[in-house]
Amino acid sequence: MSLFKAIGRLLRFGLAKRPDEDMIFRSIVEQSGDVICHVSDGRFTYVSPSAKAVFGWSPDAMIGSTGFELIYEPDLPILEEVLARRVSGEEVGPVRHQLRVVCGDGSLKWSETSARSERAANGKILHTILVIRDVSDRKRLEEELEALAHKDGLTGLANRRSFDRMLERSWQQTLRVGSEMALILIDIDHFKRFNDSYGHQAGDDCLRAVAAAVGRFARRPGDLACRYGGEEFALVLSETGPFAALELAEEVRSAVATLNVPHEGNSTRGRVTVSVGVATAIARAGGSFRMPESLVQAADHALYKAKAGGRNRVEQSVLIAPFNQK
Ligand code: GH3
Ligand code: MG
Ligand code: MG
Repeated sequence: MSLFKAIGRLLRFGLAKRPDEDMIFRSIVEQSGDVICHVSDGRFTYVSPSAKAVFGWSPDAMIGSTGFELIYEPDLPILEEVLARRVSGEEVGPVRHQLRVVCGDGSLKWSETSARSERAANGKILHTILVIRDVSDRKRLEEELEALAHKDGLTGLANRRSFDRMLERSWQQTLRVGSEMALILIDIDHFKRFNDSYGHQAGDDCLRAVAAAVGRFARRPGDLACRYGGEEFALVLSETGPFAALELAEEVRSAVATLNVPHEGNSTRGRVTVSVGVATAIARAGGSFRMPESLVQAADHALYKAKAGGRNRVEQSVLIAPFNQK
């Protein structure tokens, strides 16, 4: 007999035919680390004692309530959707959903609820057994792993994957509102020589220092600083036009130069410097570029010009991109 069936039987019939069976089922329900509930007509009719230990909920106070007040409000639509599918009969099997709940002390926890309903011949739900589990630790770990998957291990900046995602998202937003966005590519000058002179370890320290300086320029929620490649960094800036982007690029260049990290192989200055390529896309009707790829190409081209022009400098290109593309 499955746990759901055993619980259903116990909660519906109260006493089993054999008292020892009843005791077994009761102890399963009452000693479970999960919160086990019986719901009838949309209201709790039984809540296991673990509700107190796990979520700080009083089982007695929950009896007769719908439990909606225990759900973190922004997550209520998740529950409403699950309920709508179950009541309409679209979803008849056991279901599992995750949402945040408000604990007795006001804190939030991630819960995972498995629900199974028994139905009448006409499909109407007779009653439902819920098994609610605290999955906060698992969620935290998932979130940490998710964050790590989007970070560069050496510098802690966003990685190339996040860059691709953000660039696309930012471009879609630019198109939607018919505004402008900028991409700044930053490349350390003669970095191969830096490694040759000071060693790879010092090279890594230098990358971290430059990354921290670049990272400070991602100031708004729509901005992203990332490690684009080996000794290249990028800033994606939403809602940013050519003048603001150029000004910011110049500030980035200057911020790296004033780190004053010695670099004897860097002929221009004897210090670590960066060359910077800026590209701005303005969403306007009539443009003809493939976006956002063309923005990367344009920034790359500007960066090439900055290198060719003597390094430790900023160059810019501006694209007029089609308003309704994609
Ligand atoms: P340029 O001014 O033209 O950009 O010259 P450069 O030497 O910086 O460019 P190049 O592409 O020739 O060399 C990049 C160097 O960056 C080579 C590589 O060893 C170094 N590099 C890439 N990733 C890392 C890293 O993670 N750590 C260290 N220490 N060095 C790295
Ligand atoms: Mg490079
Ligand atoms: Mg370089």
